[in-house]
Formats: sequence, structure tokens, C-alpha cells
Amino acid sequence: MNYATIKWYDISNGPGVRVSLYVSGCRNHCKNCFNPETWDFNYGEPFTEDIENKIIDGLKPDYIKGFTLLGGDPFEPENQKVLAPFLEKLRKAYPDKSFWAFTGYDYERDLLTGKLGDIDTVMRMLNCLDVLIDGRFVEDLKDLNLRFRGSSNQRIILLKPSLKEDKIVLWDEVEIV
Ligand code: SF4
Repeated sequence: MNYATIKWYDISNGPGVRVSLYVSGCRNHCKNCFNPETWDFNYGEPFTEDIENKIIDGLKPDYIKGFTLLGGDPFEPENQKVLAPFLEKLRKAYPDKSFWAFTGYDYERDLLTGKLGDIDTVMRMLNCLDVLIDGRFVEDLKDLNLRFRGSSNQRIILLKPSLKEDKIVLWDEVEIV
């Protein structure tokens, strides 16, 4: 897997100050995507063990609230294989920080059905995350007032209760996760 960039003090992609990893590769090709260069799986630099360790170190300070995964698309099958073990490692190191991820895919239709890659690998990723923002960016539904989302079709899903209760539980924008 390649990655496009890492933001070490990101305040735009989840609550608080976060480390954000932009992975390469996305087949959604949403019209007016904010990051089209990351569609290419070969864009950027290889995601090495050294980079993994730098991210683990980057999350150490107390003022870093959590980690956000975006792209590109972290749930492309090629990326899942690398990110599932990495998220598990990160979760073990930081059980109390918040982990968010963005995907252009649909949580129920694409991720939970196993339509996208290996369902066990998808579940390993979902089980490490607190929040998933799902859905393609839709230009006609673009709304600059939305927090953490580009268009109003996208959802901010609280994964732990959603997985436990087998229904979609949305973030109410009050609870900090
Ligand atoms: S899912 Fe995200 S990265 Fe992929 S095309 Fe859509 S907006 Fe761009």
C-alpha cells in the first residue's frame, strides 16, 4: 500500500487534534473529489514499518485526541490487508484514543456484505474504529456547513453501538468520540 500524506496535527477530520493518514487508491471516482491524485494506488510513498512506527509515536502526546484514516479509500481491498493489522496494533497501543475512518463505500451495502474484499478483514478494521463516515461525495448534495462531511448523503456512524445493536447509530455531534 502507498500513502499520499500524513497530517500530524489535523483539526479537520474528527474531534480535537489528530494524526491523519491519507492512503492511496480509490475506485469511487466521485465527481469533484477533493483529492483525485489519490485515486492511483501507486501515488505517494510506500507505507513502511518505519512510517507505522512514526504514526505510533505521533499519537503519544496527551493532546492528540486520536487517529483518522482517509484517502483515497482505506476500504479498497488492497488497502484493507495492510490497514487491518496496523489498526489492531494502533488500537492495542492506544485503547482510549478515538479512531475515525472515511470511506466512499456504503457501510451496509458494501462493507457488511463482504462485497468489498474479505469480510473478516473488513470486520477487523471496523472493530478497531469508533467512527466511520461513509458514502461517496455527491456534488449536488455538497454542503459547506456540514461537520466532517462534504455532502449530506454521507453519514457519521458510531460503530460500536451500530455493530452491537445491528442497526445504524449516528453520531449526534455532541458526544465526543
Ligand atoms: S471516495 Fe473520497 S477519495 Fe474516493 S473519489 Fe470519492 S471523494 Fe475522492
